[in-house]
Amino acid sequence: MVTGVRTRAVHGGKEDLGGLGLHVPPIDLSTTYPVPDQAAGGAALADWADGLADAASPVYARLHNPTVARFERALADLEGVDSAVSFASGMAAMTAVLQAACLMRGRPHVVAVRPLYGGTDHLLATGLLGTETTYARAGDIASAIRPDTGLVVLETPANPNLDLTDIAAVVRAAGEVPVLVDNTFATPVLQNPAAHGAAYVLHSGTKYLGGHGDVLGGVVACAEPLAGPLRQLRILTGAVLHPLGGYLLHRGLATLPLRVEAATRTASELASRLAEHSAVESVRYPGLTGGPLLGTQLREPGAMLAFEPVGDPYAVVGKLGLITPAVSLGSVDTLIEHPGALTHRLVGESDREACGVSSSLLRVSAGLEDVDDLWDDLDQALRVAAADRPRG
Ligand SMILES: *Cc1c(COP(=O)(O)O)cnc(C)c1O
Repeated sequence: MVTGVRTRAVHGGKEDLGGLGLHVPPIDLSTTYPVPDQAAGGAALADWADGLADAASPVYARLHNPTVARFERALADLEGVDSAVSFASGMAAMTAVLQAACLMRGRPHVVAVRPLYGGTDHLLATGLLGTETTYARAGDIASAIRPDTGLVVLETPANPNLDLTDIAAVVRAAGEVPVLVDNTFATPVLQNPAAHGAAYVLHSGTKYLGGHGDVLGGVVACAEPLAGPLRQLRILTGAVLHPLGGYLLHRGLATLPLRVEAATRTASELASRLAEHSAVESVRYPGLTGGPLLGTQLREPGAMLAFEPVGDPYAVVGKLGLITPAVSLGSVDTLIEHPGALTHRLVGESDREACGVSSSLLRVSAGLEDVDDLWDDLDQALRVAAADRPRG
């Protein structure tokens, strides 16, 4: 009986390879599949249309792809649920859940806890899909729920300020309403929201799951009865993950535990040093600010941190030489960005400030470099920017 996360990350989704005489998963690029028995092909098509996880033939690449399905089985196993359904991107995955939980069930109301990834926040705030959103604090969810509420949306650790929220408490407050937890920051290595009652666990696979900054994808892990409608939507909206993306995400899972463990050690060290630095006002890192949920819900503090420099945050980024100034996260190299300018630009400034995302906040995704090289880069940039700041 295999239970270790490293073992499952390496072997998950590869159960059929031995029978195929293969060591590495094949990349199946077929767009169509011969069905000499057209009646049997039709039965398979009907199975996919019903949202089933398996059928006698893929029939057509928009209905099913074996390479992608291996990644999904591996990810579902790491999240401790029956099923996972992948999409072309994290936002496509988010869209599918809103369609399945809200629009298909005639419950267009969403309750969301800020801060959220800027794209999710903007999708919910604009109501572009036909949903309507009430933003609530984690403690006020029960009173925000209405008879037409279809989904509660939560991100913990939150993007970008690393707030932790008690998933089980939110699930209790939501009652019958399913809760979606965006687990992109924690990864299944550090947190399994389904174990705390979350109905949908969402990942932007673009980040840690792929892990090398070269694949865009999204995935939702959930119980099989919730997965069927997501597959039905995916077939008809066409927001499928490309097989090459499925292959890269599956390959990324094998090193996910080691990458997350190494980057977490680096982030912990950077957070402690930043907290002592005279040119830093404040540091947000679950290892420093996480409270009682750290070690229980969130097993380790993770590889994301945020801080407010004393100097101009744009100047700090401009002085960096090694750390990559870019959005996204979870790659092999360390990335830094200004959420107010970039990832959370489309969230109104007052809403941003109200949920603790100040205009001086910088977000860092720790990579796999040597921590002292990263520190030398940060330290010089902080000092120069603090010395240059206008006085008065
Ligand atoms: C990037 C991100 C998303 C969106 O994912 P894409 O793959 O870019 O569509 C959603 N949630 C979080 C927390 C993210 O970081």
